[in-house]
Amino acid sequence: MKVLLVEDDRDLAEGLVVALRSEGLVISHVAHGADALKQVDQFHPDMVVLDLGLPDIDGLEVLKSVRKAKPNIPILILTARSALDDKVNALDNGADDYLAKPFEMEELLARLRVMARRLSTAITSQVTIGDVILDTAAHTLLVNGDEVRLPKKEYMTLKILMEEAGRVKTKSMLENSLYEWGETIGSNAIEVHISNLRKKLPQDFIQTIRGIGYTIRQSG
Ligand code: CA
Repeated sequence: MKVLLVEDDRDLAEGLVVALRSEGLVISHVAHGADALKQVDQFHPDMVVLDLGLPDIDGLEVLKSVRKAKPNIPILILTARSALDDKVNALDNGADDYLAKPFEMEELLARLRVMARRLSTAITSQVTIGDVILDTAAHTLLVNGDEVRLPKKEYMTLKILMEEAGRVKTKSMLENSLYEWGETIGSNAIEVHISNLRKKLPQDFIQTIRGIGYTIRQSG
């Protein structure tokens, strides 16, 4: 796991680098906002620890730029500013978490572990609902522990419904996601996919919202 540390306080930065490396993290440390933006491109960090008070660019501006370049990267803010507004502002601008200085090293490490955990669940790309596990990277479906093979359109239908479990998908939303423009769609194509999927899934896994569409409930 690579962490970009952006901190201009030399003593604090040195302590942080030692502590983070001892946790097995790969660290790139910079003291300036401009260097931070370069390192996001060159070092490809998995997480960013960002001091808000930097000598060149305001940390909030750095935060906004990093967030714009990397929408999903976890960012932990370090701030000497105690005002609640600053913290809210940082969170509103895409920070995942913040720590007010001075802080205990253990606290920082704990926060980073939480962010790393969140990151690894996002990376596994596994969607689990009840006894059904869909792996959207490996393209595999497990139902009660047994692997089930699905034709492409059925797989895509299930992927949409599971990834957005709890939301109702209309027939035309599914058609638009499954078929390219100009591709011939039978009038009951979606009903057929759903009917075929239901034979392979636990009973009532896919629910029909009469007159509207289909949904999968989060609880399964
Ligand atoms: Ca500072």
